[in-house]
Amino acid sequence: MTAPLVQAEGVSKRYAGRDALASLDITLGAGEILALVGHNGAGKSTLIKLLLGLIRPDSGRIAVLGHDPSRPGAAEARRAIGFLPETIVFHPNMTGAELLAFYARLKGAPVAANRDLLARVGLAPAAGQRVGGYSKGMRQRLGLAQALIGRPRLLLLDEPTTGLDPELRQGFYAILDALAADGVGILLSSHALAELEHRADRVVVLRQGRKVADGTLADLRRMAGDPVRILVRLAATQPVPAYAGEAVSGVTVRAGRRLEIICPAAEKIERLRAVLDGPDPVADIELLHASLDDIYAGLLRRDAERTQ
Ligand code: ATP
Repeated sequence: MTAPLVQAEGVSKRYAGRDALASLDITLGAGEILALVGHNGAGKSTLIKLLLGLIRPDSGRIAVLGHDPSRPGAAEARRAIGFLPETIVFHPNMTGAELLAFYARLKGAPVAANRDLLARVGLAPAAGQRVGGYSKGMRQRLGLAQALIGRPRLLLLDEPTTGLDPELRQGFYAILDALAADGVGILLSSHALAELEHRADRVVVLRQGRKVADGTLADLRRMAGDPVRILVRLAATQPVPAYAGEAVSGVTVRAGRRLEIICPAAEKIERLRAVLDGPDPVADIELLHASLDDIYAGLLRRDAERTQ
């Protein structure tokens, strides 16, 4: 078995007495797309900075491409890492080709390879245009091209799809898929679980610096109890029904007529019975798979209850 590209064990980092990361274990293999998902402040950027060697952990061990990233010996390994920061500001008066040449020289990589890179991210036709005239999606693709200089084996992408429309996002993930098929390991951070369907091999959910879940989306669904969404339409407008109170978890009442109940599949029958046996006439009931956003919210809520 080949060694993972990233291996972190028991990694903790504190700022001003607060955990930014607490005892985090994480691995990433070649050809794998791993998504780090968490709200603002969950610790995603802190992990990426630790992997880049920009900061050191307070405790725990990190190996990136076989090296401790904070040691001087890691410089060579760092050349095999591509990084796209959360915000990257390009000089607006330079063209895409000029900017990429600038970054290639910084990295000591051949400028001649940039033509292929620009083609790979679909920017070949815009290579001679000033970046000031690029759209958000084009700038993000230029950022990715910058990260791909020197044919990295490991890509670290900090919220790469924020602000991209669904079509641009799809294009962005298609490029990542092709890179992963070539054996590149990709770690990307994101705020939303929903956009990762069919796109990440594995997802790590972080909350307040701790790992809440680690697995495929199917694993996460199981961890959350295979939740279902029960949509109930009442025959008449009602105040919040009694059975929607503490008896039922994850209930939202909308406009007094629609109830949304999100519950583990194992509780489905019990919840349905509570609704049908309740005092309010029911006009319709629909049973749906819970969305990935529901699952994400459920995992965070469960963790919050556990750590209260
Ligand atoms: P976002 O989605 O907003 O980028 P994130 O998941 O990347 O959030 P981090 O930036 O890793 O979160 O921050 C984790 C925690 O560490 C936060 O509470 C943040 O305020 C804190 N933190 C991060 N960097 C520093 C710093 N240099 N000094 C003090 N606190 C910091």
